[in-house]
Amino acid sequence: MDRILINDLSRQSAAVDNEIRRAIAQVISSGWYVLGPQCGGFEREFADFCGAKYCVGVANGTDALELTFRALGIESGKRVATVANAGYYTSTALALVGAKPVYVDVEADTGLMDLNALDALALARSIDAVVVTHLFGLMHDAESARKIAEHAAIPLIEDCAQAHGAHRGGRMAGSVGHAGCFSFYPTKNLGALGDGGAIVTDDPDIAARLIKLRQYGWDGKYRVSLGGGRNSRLDEIQAAVLRTKLPHLHGWNVRRRDIAARYTKGITHPRVTCPRGRGDEYVAHLYVLRCDDRDGLRSHLADRGIMCDVHYPIPDHLQPLAGNDRERPVLPVTERIAKEGLTIPCFPELTDDETDRIIHHINAW
Ligand SMILES: *Cc1c(COP(=O)(O)O)cnc(C)c1O
Repeated sequence: MDRILINDLSRQSAAVDNEIRRAIAQVISSGWYVLGPQCGGFEREFADFCGAKYCVGVANGTDALELTFRALGIESGKRVATVANAGYYTSTALALVGAKPVYVDVEADTGLMDLNALDALALARSIDAVVVTHLFGLMHDAESARKIAEHAAIPLIEDCAQAHGAHRGGRMAGSVGHAGCFSFYPTKNLGALGDGGAIVTDDPDIAARLIKLRQYGWDGKYRVSLGGGRNSRLDEIQAAVLRTKLPHLHGWNVRRRDIAARYTKGITHPRVTCPRGRGDEYVAHLYVLRCDDRDGLRSHLADRGIMCDVHYPIPDHLQPLAGNDRERPVLPVTERIAKEGLTIPCFPELTDDETDRIIHHINAW
């Protein structure tokens, strides 16, 4: 019996093998390896894809968040609303700029930020910005979040690292907030062969600041005009790989959604709750079940060669680093999801037979 991995990236690489090798070979012989024509080309193509005016490539998704905070003046002492169930990336970026996360609980159904709670914080004038995360590939109601942010005159940042290509109400993920941050870590819906990241925005000032911040604060060679800059660049080889893969993204997302729909239809175990069926706002980055005995189900599947994972086992506010912080918030829904969530394999190259085998073993548990 063949094992089924949580994600098998070698299958995707095999599917685009010739294209990728050709693109990389071109970069090698070009002699230009950082911030050259591939990065520029990818930035134009990805901005177009997202329906945004500008795209700035950076080294990874966490840098995309951090540099966006700097570009928006979110610095030491600022309070930023975010969720605690999205893998700590935003918390890391906030810590790097000295800002404080204000954790908002999430909706029980979707795991996305509770916008009523956000509205209350915004009305109380107790936050300076908000990061909405489109978790597991499900685009949040960013339009409503934007209205809340605009009413409070604070910026909205979309964390789109799990939602490349999701759209809702005619707007692409990343194009609704003041800035949309992406990661191209290999397992993301659009993944490089290494690290990569980008920010999309319609605001020329934000884009101009990001272009300085990713390269030492330079406004020209060796001329530093903006503080907080450092080195965070998308290299030419990764940009060339991403340009090769971008035209495939839509098809891959369709396939992911098909697999997710097959799961939601096929899984009928009474102790397992599936995510609801969804439309284009869901690009099925991860398919996360809920189960009252998550660990029992996980080991049952592992014994049958099906590798699962948990996204994410420890909410941000309960990480060991937080210690026994007395100001630690209580986030009941976030904490419950961390105990019940189980991620089963969902990637475009998973076959129907494998999907059916997974469904069978879950129902037989
Ligand atoms: C992957 C991810 C990031 C961080 O991206 P890196 O490229 O790994 O730094 C940020 N936010 C979310 C929601 C992610 O899934």
